[in-house]
Formats: sequence, C-alpha cells, structure tokens
Amino acid sequence: MTQEFQLRILPEIAANEQKLKEYLFKEKGLNLRDITATRILKRSIDARQRTIFVNLKVRAYIREMPKDNEYEHTIYNKVEGKPQVIVVGAGPGGLFAALRLIELGLRPVVIERGKDVRERKKDLAQISREHTVDPESNYSFGEGGAGAYSDGKLYTRSKKRGNIDKILNVFCQHGASTAILVDAHPHIGTDKLPRVIENMRNTIIECGGEVHFQTRMEALIIENDEVKGIETNTGKTFLGPVILATGHSARDVYRWLAANHVAIEAKGIAVGVRLEHPAMLIDQIQYHNKEGRGKYLPAAEYSFVTQVEGRGVYSFCMCPGGFIVPAASGPEQVVVNGMSPSNRGSRWSNSGMVVEVQPEDLISGEWRVENGELAAQRNEQLLALNPSLNNSQLSTLNSQLLPLYFQEEQERQCWLQGGRRQTAPAQRMQDFTRKKLSYDLPESSYSPGLISSPLHFWMPEFISKRLSLGFQQFGRYSHGFLTNEAVMIGVETRTSSPVRIVRDKETLQHTTVRGLFPCGEGAGYAGGIVSAGVDGERCAEAVANYFNR
Ligand SMILES: Cc1cc2nc3c(=O)[nH]c(=O)nc-3n(C[C@H](O)[C@H](O)[C@H](O)COP(=O)(O)OP(=O)(O)OC[C@H]3O[C@@H](n4cnc5c(N)ncnc54)[C@H](O)[C@@H]3O)c2cc1C
Repeated sequence: MTQEFQLRILPEIAANEQKLKEYLFKEKGLNLRDITATRILKRSIDARQRTIFVNLKVRAYIREMPKDNEYEHTIYNKVEGKPQVIVVGAGPGGLFAALRLIELGLRPVVIERGKDVRERKKDLAQISREHTVDPESNYSFGEGGAGAYSDGKLYTRSKKRGNIDKILNVFCQHGASTAILVDAHPHIGTDKLPRVIENMRNTIIECGGEVHFQTRMEALIIENDEVKGIETNTGKTFLGPVILATGHSARDVYRWLAANHVAIEAKGIAVGVRLEHPAMLIDQIQYHNKEGRGKYLPAAEYSFVTQVEGRGVYSFCMCPGGFIVPAASGPEQVVVNGMSPSNRGSRWSNSGMVVEVQPEDLISGEWRVENGELAAQRNEQLLALNPSLNNSQLSTLNSQLLPLYFQEEQERQCWLQGGRRQTAPAQRMQDFTRKKLSYDLPESSYSPGLISSPLHFWMPEFISKRLSLGFQQFGRYSHGFLTNEAVMIGVETRTSSPVRIVRDKETLQHTTVRGLFPCGEGAGYAGGIVSAGVDGERCAEAVANYFNR
C-alpha cells in the first residue's frame, strides 16, 4: 500500500530519509516499522520567511517496495529501411526530434557541424587558455548543441505538463538523475550532461539512425518550393525532408535562408550582461541568514523582473554556484553565458541581466546599425550566397537581419574592448549605476580574464539606462543585491534567436517551402533545453503527418 502526503518541513528533515520516516511516524501516525521506503514526488524551497521550509510531496510505501524504474520508459524500435528524415543540428531540438522519429517508425539522419561531445570539450578549454575560438566547435556548436555545456536547468515557462514530463523522462532513461522528475527547479549540471547526450546518440545509432559529426549543412536542396535534402561541406548530399534545428548561433544558416528567399522575419531579443555575485552573498540575502545556506540547502537562486520605460528588464538563466563562460562561436566576438555543475558548488552565483530589445528600437533609436562600410560588408555576405539579389531585396533582407547585426556589433565591441582576445569588459555593479569606471575588479569565475571598462558609457543608452534603473529597483527589493561586490561582464546577447524562420502553426512546415520543418530555439520556437526538446518532438510528429499525407 502507498500513501501520499503534502509536507512543509525543515530542510534537515527533507534531506534525510530516516528523519522523514520519523516525521511521518510522529506527525502522520504511520507505524515506523511499516514504512519500507519513501519517494519524493515534488520538492520546492519556501524561502519567503526567516525560517526556511521545504515543501515536499511524498509517497510512503507501507509494507511494500517501490518499483525499480522511477521514470516512464520509452520503447525505441529498429528503423533500418524506414523512410529517412534529415535532422540538421544535434542540440536538444535535433536530438529529441531524432528520438521521436524513431518512436514513429522513421529513420533519422542527424547532421552536426561540430565534434562529438567529448572531443568538443578540448576546444572549450582552448577558448580560455589560448583565446582561440574554433568556429565549428565551441559552446554553441557540437554534439548536444548549446545544451551540452550549458547549465542544464530544465524548467520552462511552457505549461504543457505532459510534453515536459516526456522530455524529463527521456533524459532519465538516458542517465539523468530521477531527481529532475521531482524538483520544482530541475537541474542536470554541466558535468553530467555529456554522458546523457552520448547515451541519446547511442540510442539513435543502435536503432538504425545515423549521426554525422563535423558535417555542416551548406545549402538546402529546394525544387518547386519543396525541400529534397541538403548539401554539406563534405561534398555529401543527404536526401529527405529536413528538420532544421541549427540553434540561434548559426548565423550562416540565417544568411543562407535570407539570401535564398526562404522567409525569415526579425524578432525581439534581449541584450545585457552577466552579473556575478559571491555565492555566499546571494545565499545570505535569499536565506536571510548571515551564515549563508548551511548544510541542507542548495545555493540560492533569485529571479527579478521589471519594466523600465516600456521594455522588460530581467534576470535570465540564473546559475547559483556556477561559472561564467566564454560563449563566442566565431572570430571577433566576446559573448558570455553561465553554467553550473550539478553540485552548484562554486564560489560565485551569476545570471544574465538583460533588457528587451525590439526590432523597432534598432531602427528608430539613437543606435544606428546602418553605416557605409558595414552595410557594404553585409551586402557582400548576402551576395556571396546569391549574386542575383538586387538593391531593394538586399535592403529588405538587411532589415530582417537587423537584430542579428545588432548582436554582432555588441559582441565585436566587447572583443575590441577586451584587446581582441576573449578577455571580457567588466564593471562593478554600483560603479555602473553611478557611471564610474571601476579602479579594480573583484575575483571572477570567468577564466579568460576581465578588463575594467565603462559599460555605462559605451553600451547603447537604450540598454544601459534601463539596466541601471532596473538594478536600482532590484536593489530596493532585495537589500544588499546592488553592491560593488558584484561585477557585470559584457556582453550577453544570445538569449534568444534574433529571427524567426516562419512556419505554419498547424503543419509546422515552413510557410513557403514544403518538407522544411524549422525547429527549436534557432527557428524562434523555443527558449531553452526543455522547450527545444518539446519542439523537436512536435516537429518529428509533423514530419510523420507529412509522410502520411
Ligand atoms: C552556457 C549556456 C548555458 C545555458 N544554460 C541553459 C539552462 O540552464 N537551461 C536551459 O533551458 N537552456 C540553457 N541554455 C540554452 C539552451 O542550451 C538552448 O536553448 C538549447 O540548447 C537550444 O536547443 P536547439 O536544439 O534549438 O539549438 P542548439 O542547442 O543551439 O543546437 C543547434 C545545433 O545545430 C548545429 N548546427 C548549426 N548550424 C549547423 C549547420 N549548418 N549544419 C549542421 N549543424 C549545425 C550546432 O552545432 C548545434 O549543435 C544555455 C546555453 C548556453 C550556451
């Protein structure tokens, strides 16, 4: 027999099964000797009051043992000889699409420009050590996509619980801890993700699918407005309908689509900085305790959001006990992002602090992306992909790509500020709000190094002003948060895709090109690991419908 309870208990009880059983005995009248096991079904921390509580939904097993599998097992059958589907990109979107295709009896052929997840790690080390970014193997490109060396937080704003549970269960089936099924804020951790991703790849191959690394899609093969397959840099072509899950950093893909009349549209993005505090300080603030988090609580999280002058200012992808990483994916870029290991044990806590930017801010604001030399370079890039483009077409494409150009400009500015290396420009938080250059900088987790820079001065004013006012508000909500112990590091630009690859709501096919299924974050339909996975599954289902029709 089993019985379920909703409990509000102290962290030291929640952390220890024996103490939990004793609690159930004392408070819920269960016979201690009859409780064979407990399973936590949901866990969240309530840190609103001085005494911190853990909310637990617990199942007690009374004179019976739990079943072995704590997750739902998906069956993947062999798909050799089945119709082939090309999946471009082995990020969460592409991998979940491939696995779902197998479930639906279709054979995925995954094409990935980067290296496998283990080889890729060496290239990441080079970025910090040598300041060299391999444009095909970095924090964005390679097996697992941006999700592989990410923070591995698995929460999403999406409300479709069934779809989310499926993604979490598939992760568990491939080696993730079943704690992710329980926690209100599930997190795999950057140290655990690579093995999970390898296991997903092995499932694809064992079932008869293919995975090709170091193979970059260079062009779609389109005949009569229908995709027939792709051309790659290895000279090989792959035939079949295409799930395009290339992520938001594949700027060459966006340019190719734009230049070849595969409709895209500009969309809003968010741009700002990574903000890093000592983890101890965030723990003290959030847990209202000078001693910090103590033995039983995890590194504390925070989340801030406000509106300043008609635009959102908010914290994004918070990484308690984490690191700031150099997330550039090409030359002349400095971009930062954050991640944390599964134990969230570093001395720092960081988050993206970003300001919403709409395409119209770039056209009408004081910021001008158009300037003679740059505009000529951008036209040349598009003409190299399609020499027949005329001036009016170029002008339309340039306005579709405006948010992307803005990201590029901000990243280049940081690269110049950092001395043309991965050294990142930085400023203490209060110095920024007081418009003062920082004379020195605190120790930081960002391993390529920091250089003091007046971010308040050179960041576009429509961002720096809002960020500064946002910080002042957050400092009022949360005493101690606005401090010179915190450092802001430029620049966080890759919060979402700068364009949308337009698709039909029902069929998920591109609006003008049949057999093309734009997928995941890069297409503008996801904003994180889980939502990219959910979208991957949906695209696979849409391809199955396309075959059926
Ligand atoms: C450091 C960091 C931390 C993050 N932390 C979190 C987090 O904690 N939680 C969360 O939800 N999200 C996090 N994210 C974001 C998350 O990783 C992305 O939202 C997610 O990976 C998007 O999935 P995707 O499959 O759509 O695209 P991606 O993961 O970007 O994958 C795209 C793939 O396509 C490949 N590709 C690109 N162009 C081509 C081509 N022409 N030919 C062949 N292959 C190509 C790329 O190499 C890449 O592997 C983080 C990102 C980073 C960089």
